[in-house]
Amino acid sequence: MSRVHNFSAGPAALPLEVLEQIKNDLLDWQGTGMSVMEVSHRGKEFVELAARSEANLRKLLAISDDYSVLFPQGGATMQMAMAPLNLAAPGDTADYVVTGSWGKKAASEAAKFCNVNVAADASDRKFTYIPDESAWSLSDNAAYLHFTPNETIAGVEFSFVPGGDAPLVADMSSNILSQPIDVSRYGVIYAGAQKNIGPAGITLVIVKNELLDRARSDNPHLMTWKSYADSDSMTNTPPTFAWYVADLVFAWLIKQGGVEAMAEVNGRKASKLYAAIDTSDFYSNPVDLGCRSRMNVPFILADAGLDAVFLQESHAAGLTNLKGHRSVGGMRASIYNAVSEQSVDALIGFMHEFEKQHG
Ligand SMILES: *Cc1c(COP(=O)(O)O)cnc(C)c1O
Repeated sequence: MSRVHNFSAGPAALPLEVLEQIKNDLLDWQGTGMSVMEVSHRGKEFVELAARSEANLRKLLAISDDYSVLFPQGGATMQMAMAPLNLAAPGDTADYVVTGSWGKKAASEAAKFCNVNVAADASDRKFTYIPDESAWSLSDNAAYLHFTPNETIAGVEFSFVPGGDAPLVADMSSNILSQPIDVSRYGVIYAGAQKNIGPAGITLVIVKNELLDRARSDNPHLMTWKSYADSDSMTNTPPTFAWYVADLVFAWLIKQGGVEAMAEVNGRKASKLYAAIDTSDFYSNPVDLGCRSRMNVPFILADAGLDAVFLQESHAAGLTNLKGHRSVGGMRASIYNAVSEQSVDALIGFMHEFEKQHG
């Protein structure tokens, strides 16, 4: 068996132990004589899985009973519509802080359903910084304030939680579970699964219960958070296989020592990779020092003519998915929870060698 070092931005690497467990379980899950894909979501075993996964997630992120935990389908992108549909009446205004492509997409989706006030926008410097909070132009009585704690494409991460009176809505798709968070500061947290939770197909929404009654009355059932909250996310058939894998990932995280332990490893991984970039004239990263992402590390080669060679040679060395997003160019290494420190060391070793040969 040969496994590569996978730096994919998403769908991304899963822990090897989780993949091995899936392999063991596949034909006969929990003595049912069936795979988890073939059992009823209302059966005893799956209902237990659903309850356990929620309990483990609550433990991992210290989520209080004031919040509901939902597992819809549709990915983070569907939540970009569900946020306004569940929190804003037509004519209400929602504030958006746009620090990257995902936040921009969220704002334009919301603009179909309510007034959007872009309170800050970092596109003037190609999303390489976070505008100072004191300069944001927040509106009075905003239905909510939306932001993206980690922008996956340009690699920009908040190191603070915004203030203000409006409920905070955070798209945490690419940094959820990478460190402890204070859930009580947020109204809603949402995340697609395929970066730090599990396979694509399931979505995580953590929503403050007091916000569940604001949905529009003509909202489709499946676009309404309360439908999921009232049915333990079984308002229709949930994505059972993806949920099963997420459950294994939560258990794996607890075994690693929880998000505190992950934060420590993630901090080490990111700082040594940025150090390798910063100490070389051959590689560079354009993001302001105070807001560099711990999860997505873009880097540019001084000579873009070497990009193709870098990708080819790194791939041959077992380092995959390093091509940067087309809007940024160069390379991007996504180093989520399941990407080990050894994988990051292997990348840094390759970068040094490549620079020696071509620099
Ligand atoms: C990947 C990503 C998305 C898109 O997620 P889908 O699940 O594909 O809808 C949205 N926001 C952020 C921050 C992401 O990283």
